[in-house]
Amino acid sequence: MKKSVKILSVILALVIVLGCFAACGGSEEPKDEKKVLTMATNAEFPPYEFYEGETVVGIDAEVAALIAEKLGMELKIEDVAFDSIIPGVQAGKYDMGMAGMTVTEDRLKDVNFSDSYATGVQVVIVKEGGSIASLDDIAGKKIGVQTSTTGDIYASDEFGEENVIKYENGALAVEALKNGKVDCVIIDNEPAKSYVAANEGLVILETEYAIEDYAICFAKENTELQEQVNTALKELIADGSVQRVVDKYISAE
Ligand code: GLN
Repeated sequence: MKKSVKILSVILALVIVLGCFAACGGSEEPKDEKKVLTMATNAEFPPYEFYEGETVVGIDAEVAALIAEKLGMELKIEDVAFDSIIPGVQAGKYDMGMAGMTVTEDRLKDVNFSDSYATGVQVVIVKEGGSIASLDDIAGKKIGVQTSTTGDIYASDEFGEENVIKYENGALAVEALKNGKVDCVIIDNEPAKSYVAANEGLVILETEYAIEDYAICFAKENTELQEQVNTALKELIADGSVQRVVDKYISAE
């Protein structure tokens, strides 16, 4: 009698253990696949996003990775044209857009923005010793910009659409400046610094053209993700993680 009770309990234990294996998926299949966080960017904007080999790296890519980690999600970066980021986010093609993107009143009509994580400054790149020595010399000159960026918007407003030549990215605008097709380029200061460092004979005008806030954009209806990202961002700013990423890419002057 005692023996059969023992055998029975062994069998019972085995059934429980096996049952648990089946239920808990004791096989190699990944049990909890991470949800993907898709970020749209335009990887022509050093040091915020650019290619290192096949990989998109930079301040935005790394801060986004830290955010994804906090949310328990897997980050996927899509490199698209700057002016398709907002439409793609609105259409739900991407969960968020992060591209050194400035918060503007007009963009706020289409998307929501996270808290700001960085400051951008619009500056003017010119040829050293060329015809533009200060902001006052720009009127009537040819201005190169990256399409749909704030540089494009401000320059078109202030100096007239006819004086603004739009390029697909900053690098092409800078090429045009070197070749004399435009007289200056209005662009964000950090990419400006890296373009000037890479190209002999170019300088950035002393006077800053405009100061702005960078933030991450979301579809209007996706306030849940926006709030989660804001919470993560607050923690990452408070514990110095964002600053560490910035310092890695931008050396203090
Ligand atoms: N900060 C500028 C804007 O938001 C440029 C961004 C970019 O070219 N990636 O328009």
